[in-house]
Amino acid sequence: MGDQSMQKIIQKQVMTGVLLLLSSFLTVSGVMAAGGAVKSPTGIAPDRYVYYPGTEELKKDEIRLVACGTGLPAARRDQAATCFLAEVGNGDKFLFDIGTGSMTNVAALMIPYDFINKVFLTHLHTDHWGDLATLWAGGWTAGRTGPLRIWGPTGATKDMGTAYAVEHFLKAYNWDAKTRNFVLSPKPGEIIVKEFDYKAENAVVYQENDVTIKTLPAIHAGDGPVSFILEYAGLKVVIGGDTFPNKWYIKYAANADLAIHETFLTPPDLVKFYGQSPGQALGVGTQIHTSPQAFGKVMSTIKPRHAVGYHFFNEQGTHDDILMGVRETYKGPLSLAVDNMVWNISKEAIVERMVVSPDQAWSVAGPNKPPNPPAKGTVPDPLTDFIKAGHWSPADEAQAEMIKDFKAKYNMK
Ligand SMILES: [Zn+2]
Ligand SMILES: [Zn+2]
Repeated sequence: MGDQSMQKIIQKQVMTGVLLLLSSFLTVSGVMAAGGAVKSPTGIAPDRYVYYPGTEELKKDEIRLVACGTGLPAARRDQAATCFLAEVGNGDKFLFDIGTGSMTNVAALMIPYDFINKVFLTHLHTDHWGDLATLWAGGWTAGRTGPLRIWGPTGATKDMGTAYAVEHFLKAYNWDAKTRNFVLSPKPGEIIVKEFDYKAENAVVYQENDVTIKTLPAIHAGDGPVSFILEYAGLKVVIGGDTFPNKWYIKYAANADLAIHETFLTPPDLVKFYGQSPGQALGVGTQIHTSPQAFGKVMSTIKPRHAVGYHFFNEQGTHDDILMGVRETYKGPLSLAVDNMVWNISKEAIVERMVVSPDQAWSVAGPNKPPNPPAKGTVPDPLTDFIKAGHWSPADEAQAEMIKDFKAKYNMK
């Protein structure tokens, strides 16, 4: 089968899923682009409601936001944990959280790893940074040429902050790093952490190339969690981390172009689907997180151009329960996010579509030349003579011909 026909089949499979999803939220969103009429059986069709990554230029004054994870700490194939990718018209890209499982959605966008080296963490629950390992090591092997940069909050004590977490993350992956360092440049394995005060109010934590990112405190589980505000080209996008509705979000997220805030499973659904006791369900669903009614109240107070709720397993039953709850207190434009929803945000419009991307994506090279591996003898060999002595020579004989041909093809000695 040719590559192209294979490609079409993959796309068709993805599209079927997308159309099923679309049918479930077409009634919810007020910002879906019009499809238009098909005028010719052989011509090009009009708008398909979908975004094919890498096929559209991002305008200078535009932000593209992709939901790469919208779910919960427990794994689900259909929904990864929290991750939003913001791409801005100046070329910069930012990951806001990198929750467990989200890197498969990020990778499917086929963006060179050098372009996705800036990560902002709202807090240190695994559903918000559990896939850092995948970005760190996967990106290292697949083309990132320099260190990762991570911004994240302090905690009430040193051991509850982002710098501590990343320092010990690297310690936990010591074996991984030491074995890679022998064959790859160690540069892309480095992580530069910028920790900022979790209590800071609307404080700038990043300002480069006309992009400003600010932090707000959040109320969630313990001291430390924050939300972020991204400002670019006169646009304001608020990326709310886990939180009970708080005064800082109300004050500083007001009039956002797009405001993301968690809305959690309803207490009855926490009992029904999660097996929680009624007491636990009320605590988790209305105190540690934000109930749909409270989410609606936040949005009808701050009045964004478009509101996005996330952080629940989104299926017919839960979706309808949450939507009804939100609609008790908020009537404005709304998305209840699923993975691979994408918003193009500009002064003129906010357009919501679904990403159509391959299940079998490869990493793609970026413009930078990969750094050289370490010179021979500069990094200790992680294999001892004991293990090397187990080398089974018939394997060498079996592959000798193939290696000879390969070396000839590439003029190798
Ligand atoms: Zn959390
Ligand atoms: Zn969470």
